[in-house]
Amino acid sequence: MPVCFDIGGTNIRSGWPDQDGIVQIADQRATPGDSLEAFLVTLEAMVQGAPIAQQDFVAISITGFVNPKTGELTIANIPYLKNTNLTELLEARVKVPVVVANDADCLALAEAHAGVAKGESNVFAIILGTGVGGGLVLNGNLVTGFGGISGEWGHGPIVDPTAGGLVDHMGYFHCGCGQQGCLDTVGAARGMENVHRALSGTTLEAENILRDWRSGDSMAAKTVEACSEMVARTLSVFINTLGPGSVPVGGGLANAQDYIAKIDTKVRTMVLSHYNRPLVVQAQHVSNAGLVGAAFLRPRSTAGTR
Ligand SMILES: [Zn+2]
Repeated sequence: MPVCFDIGGTNIRSGWPDQDGIVQIADQRATPGDSLEAFLVTLEAMVQGAPIAQQDFVAISITGFVNPKTGELTIANIPYLKNTNLTELLEARVKVPVVVANDADCLALAEAHAGVAKGESNVFAIILGTGVGGGLVLNGNLVTGFGGISGEWGHGPIVDPTAGGLVDHMGYFHCGCGQQGCLDTVGAARGMENVHRALSGTTLEAENILRDWRSGDSMAAKTVEACSEMVARTLSVFINTLGPGSVPVGGGLANAQDYIAKIDTKVRTMVLSHYNRPLVVQAQHVSNAGLVGAAFLRPRSTAGTR
């Protein structure tokens, strides 16, 4: 049985599968701020503290990308882990195999094997959180991608700044990846705030924009209409390309089920296949998706595939 971790810039969470294979958060500690050594000591202590009889391996979901050839991490929010090989560093301490994967990839695994997409062979799991991310399971297998990048549909300079003619040209927003016009800059919480500022001249947090939309505010409605349109248009191309049986949504905006339903209704009019049921739906595992998905990872040195 694996000891599973979900590592973010703020917290490190751990847990292990129950009899149904679901991992709940059992231990949580603050992510050390500036020391790789303190970070490794924390992980080692959490592994040793896990009360399971047979620790077969350690499985980690992390907010970064793992190069499948070199094992090196690309990660922004935990600077001391940048370009490190976390697998090797931790294996030297815990003496069992370690496997590390991107958190959106773990969401895709969680939903494909034990969530709303169970039984579907193709699953495109999307994250609408602070930004836009995604992970991909095809024919039942996680797609790790060249250089560790796959499913990252939030990046690429493709967004129409009139949202298909719904609004006046709102300009482009700079993306963290260095480009302009990425869906990441208009598609999730931070993007909704960008769009609202451009259209209304006022600064509001995404949850307040959604609140105002629900209470009938016309300016918030314009923002929500534009954002959902831009998300749905981009998503339609990925749905036609990948043929997913389900598109589970994780991240903070997944909790706005009315907003997710709006994206779903729009996108199903834009794709070639006929889905006579909701396709874009709230993920079953939101707060513990990293842990649940990590349990389905397999280290290279044991049988099975990633
Ligand atoms: Zn970008």
